[in-house]
Amino acid sequence: MPDSSIHSWGLLPTVSHTHVIPLRDRRQTLPSIEGSMLPHGLGRSYGDSCLNEDGALLLTRGLDHWIDFDPETGLLQCEAGISLAEILELASPKGWFLPVTPGTRFVTVGGAIANDVHGKNHHRTGSFGRWVRDFELLRSDGSRRNCSRTENATWFRASIGGLGLTGLITRATLQLRPIVSPLIDVEQIRARNLSEFFALADESDSTHEYTVSWVDCLATGDAVGSGIFIRGNHSETPSDLTWKPRPTLPIPIHAPGWLLNKASVQAFNFLYGHKFSGDYHASQEHFLPFFYPLDSVNDWNRLYGKRGFYQHQCVVPREGRSGPIHDILSRIGNSGQASFLAVLKVFGDQPAEGLLSFPRPGVTLALDFPNRGQRTLDLMNELDEIVMSNGGSLYPAKDARMSGAHFKTFTPALDLFTPYIDPAFSSSFWRRVQENS
Ligand SMILES: Cc1cc2nc3c(=O)[nH]c(=O)nc-3n(C[C@H](O)[C@H](O)[C@H](O)COP(=O)(O)OP(=O)(O)OC[C@H]3O[C@@H](n4cnc5c(N)ncnc54)[C@H](O)[C@@H]3O)c2cc1C
Repeated sequence: MPDSSIHSWGLLPTVSHTHVIPLRDRRQTLPSIEGSMLPHGLGRSYGDSCLNEDGALLLTRGLDHWIDFDPETGLLQCEAGISLAEILELASPKGWFLPVTPGTRFVTVGGAIANDVHGKNHHRTGSFGRWVRDFELLRSDGSRRNCSRTENATWFRASIGGLGLTGLITRATLQLRPIVSPLIDVEQIRARNLSEFFALADESDSTHEYTVSWVDCLATGDAVGSGIFIRGNHSETPSDLTWKPRPTLPIPIHAPGWLLNKASVQAFNFLYGHKFSGDYHASQEHFLPFFYPLDSVNDWNRLYGKRGFYQHQCVVPREGRSGPIHDILSRIGNSGQASFLAVLKVFGDQPAEGLLSFPRPGVTLALDFPNRGQRTLDLMNELDEIVMSNGGSLYPAKDARMSGAHFKTFTPALDLFTPYIDPAFSSSFWRRVQENS
């Protein structure tokens, strides 16, 4: 019986799967079924890269065993369905932290590898794959490979950022980084425009491990790029490392679609911009609210209503003081189709491990758009053209609609990658970008 209970974080597209198969034992071979299959972790990808319409999903959360943890070296080996939240609960009280974390901790190790996720410290540490020592890849023919930089090295590079298409990652070894306190020394600084944002990013590059900016997408003219620049470092003053996960607020039903409109975005921007007075605020925060402010509200994606929402995340070359990011933000500001969340960050120049990894040197902008049908798609298509003509790229983990032609241009290593796809694996994203090119 077709199953349409599983969706991605953006709540679109709605698809049904022929089978939804929970995996429990990494030693077993993959189920033999007709049609294609795809691993699915915690479904925190926004579009269709974690979906497989009319095919099967292999639910990986049941692969949740710890295999080894060395509190002397911070080397952790676990099954791929373990979440980053669970790693933090195990390792941070022992003085170890994730080397790279995305803006939610509710993602699995397998999902973090398959999208080669990045965090606020990309300018220092690069993306997740750089901290993966090795992993096991299980293929539909029953073969197993240990993959690392020295063993099956091209399989390693194909599977990091490989969108779940090269086989099932059953377990992985990660290098964690040491901490002496759960606190982060945080500074919030008002940036009045894009030039100020870039100046702050440059100034913080060598002094702060974490940098990111929340941007007001309604700003136009001289104020384009204005927002709050946030930077932080792990506190170096030793303190009690124990902590308890905090309760999260539920969003029990889908909100009406009109809830997130221009007025509510303005109100949000006003409140956020006025959370601190003046231009500068320094504080100490626990790592949970610093890294995961959105995790405190369960299922916040339902605020966008049943029609769901798109995310658009690009990376473009920096080019002086403004360049393509200025064009993109101006286009959004003038469109009146405000993005509720807009996050701007300068990526560093550490090369990513994966053949298809998204992060590359430049500046990345992530935007959420409530789904208002064709006019939302038209706006994002315009943004794509700016990205394309400036030699940038879009993040597949956040995508539900980029064209196949764009994907091919954004992915120079595509031909190198393709031979590593498991013949029994596919995804809605993959078929879409193959078909409409
Ligand atoms: C609030 C929020 C903030 C976010 N912030 C960031 C951010 O700052 N940086 C960033 O990079 N991303 C960010 N993301 C995106 C998220 O980190 C990625 O989409 C991540 O890959 C999701 O992991 P998951 O476990 O939910 O995997 P899913 O979304 O279920 O799957 C993701 C991909 O991984 C594959 N996969 C899953 N498990 C395995 C496995 N065991 N073996 C092989 N392939 C597998 C799937 O087939 C799919 O292609 C954010 C998402 C949300 C909702």
